[in-house]
Amino acid sequence: MSDKNILEVKNLKKYFPIKSGVFQKVVGNVRAVDDVSFEINKGETFSLVGESGCGKSTLGRTVLRLLDKTSGSVKFKGLDIHSLSKKEMRKLRLKMQIIFQDPFSSLNPRKTVSDLIGEALIAHKFVNSKKEYYNRIEEVMEVCGLARYHMKRYPHEFSGGQRQRIGIARSLVLNPEFIVADEPVSALDVSIQSQIINLLQDFQEKYGFSYLFISHDLSVVRHISHKVGVLYLGSLVEVASKDDLYNSPMHPYTQALISCVPLPDPEKKVDRIILKGDIPSASNPPSGCKFHTRCLHVKDICKEEVPILKEVGNGHKVSCHLY
Ligand code: SF4
Repeated sequence: MSDKNILEVKNLKKYFPIKSGVFQKVVGNVRAVDDVSFEINKGETFSLVGESGCGKSTLGRTVLRLLDKTSGSVKFKGLDIHSLSKKEMRKLRLKMQIIFQDPFSSLNPRKTVSDLIGEALIAHKFVNSKKEYYNRIEEVMEVCGLARYHMKRYPHEFSGGQRQRIGIARSLVLNPEFIVADEPVSALDVSIQSQIINLLQDFQEKYGFSYLFISHDLSVVRHISHKVGVLYLGSLVEVASKDDLYNSPMHPYTQALISCVPLPDPEKKVDRIILKGDIPSASNPPSGCKFHTRCLHVKDICKEEVPILKEVGNGHKVSCHLY
């Protein structure tokens, strides 16, 4: 693991067993995350994109050890987090936080804003006095654009954008270094989305945070990412810098996703590639290349052999038999 990396994920798998019958015998597995490897550099944003149900959120939760892995490893600053004791993990939790997708359901409606933001301060014994407790809450509220007088209010008194600011303040309060942002703006109006994205970018500049940004929205991802990984049925099919991925997508799945993103330059015209069929089941993925049932360039070899994710230059990786 290089000094530049804050996170290194290697051959990570997360399978959910499918049980059946009176004795709940395991009859198969849902391969939600299937042999995924990537790295995130300090102070950078790595985004995961793909259709819903492709395993993005499961991957984010397994990276934070909110879910146990099936196999593989996740190293945060060189520490293999899935082999740490509960006590060691508790310490590390201060540095690794999550922003949830839905600001409407992720906040307990019976708690005030100060309770919601401050509970982690108490749980992790982060402050030594009431004064420190309120000072810290006030500090993070301020950087998140929330006024002091909001402290004693309840979540239902806020708009969607403000609730997501409360969610972000909760994840910032312990001074993390790494944040998984799981679809943080998809429940918000477009006008509010850019405010929240700008806020996350400001924090990155100010505090050097690293993000794993999970989204199905390629326009949002284009705005915030340094590197992007495209996930299909639990596996990465392409990883590249933002510019390489958007300017020269190589995998047919990425090409289809990008062809549907509105272009910043309206003069430029790109033919939309409409994918046929639905995403197959992760409990019974297609043989060979998992994308072969929907690919416009499918060849015989694609149905038999699994393509490996290989580097094609400049850190750009793709898993496709065309290359
Ligand atoms: Fe399409 Fe074959 Fe490439 Fe898969 S390996 S994306 S089926 S061309």
